[in-house]
Amino acid sequence: MAHYLGVDIGGTNIKTGIVASDAVVVASSASGWSGGQPAEAVELVARLAAALIRAHPSEEPTACGVGSAGLVDGRTGTVIASPNLPTWHDVKLADLIATSTNLPTLVDNDANAAAYAEYHIGAARGAASALMLTLGTGVGGGMVFGGRLYRGAHGFAGEVGHATIEAGGPVCACGNDGCLERFVNAGAIVERAREALTSGRPSSMAAAAAEGALTAQVVGEAANAGDAVALDVVTETGRLLGVGLANFAFILDPDVVVLGGGVSAIGQALLAPAREELERRTASYGLRLPRLVFAELGHDAGVVGAALLARDELPGR
Ligand SMILES: [Zn+2]
Repeated sequence: MAHYLGVDIGGTNIKTGIVASDAVVVASSASGWSGGQPAEAVELVARLAAALIRAHPSEEPTACGVGSAGLVDGRTGTVIASPNLPTWHDVKLADLIATSTNLPTLVDNDANAAAYAEYHIGAARGAASALMLTLGTGVGGGMVFGGRLYRGAHGFAGEVGHATIEAGGPVCACGNDGCLERFVNAGAIVERAREALTSGRPSSMAAAAAEGALTAQVVGEAANAGDAVALDVVTETGRLLGVGLANFAFILDPDVVVLGGGVSAIGQALLAPAREELERRTASYGLRLPRLVFAELGHDAGVVGAALLARDELPGR
């Protein structure tokens, strides 16, 4: 059986894995990093990969797939820019990693890689079409139709976080106003919770807020424990997510929408109001709605998806 090297490059972590052609992860490793220069990332990937290959000589990879944070042109393997990797501009990452690992290499956006994995072996397996939203510090997305990743005309398809849901709304990290990301990412949830706490309603979140330790995870846990203020915050976040989902349903009509990323761990308290809003906004058209499901592959999705992209898209693999 052939094996592939999967790599996931984020703003604070780099993960590598040897993945068999049936998507089983043979071995994996990870290292924290400071989000520095591209050359540092390339060196770290080469080092992690070499150690994995040394430890598993009979499962030597024949190609490499990389999922990277940021705006990536998957056709050329170029990272155009990345908010989490601020020094990266027009980095020809596929060429750099191919040289350092001596493997044919493909690079795509990390959310695309995760979507590809969820489609083939995760929450969307068996579906004809799927949209995945990765809800975290940012909001990313990826689309797979008929088994193939859809990249668009210029390689940037699936940037769902920057779809406008309120023109004139608050300014997003990307510079536009009213992006979906600005309403449903981890920072937006914390901001909404802080504002809700100013009402003086009693809440278990007050202590964390006073210590400057309020996070989206704290809000989610409070909501799931029945904290009324946190529940209001999560319900409003879910409703706004549903506004975005209605737009995507009208445009794409996918079989499945997969929700992943740290914010999705809030669970049904987030999903139920999102579904309600999606239904409300599409009811008069009688739209058949996508199945809304949570991602299944967790932190491995990026590594596995990148490896599977290398399996399926690099010529001769
Ligand atoms: Zn934006």
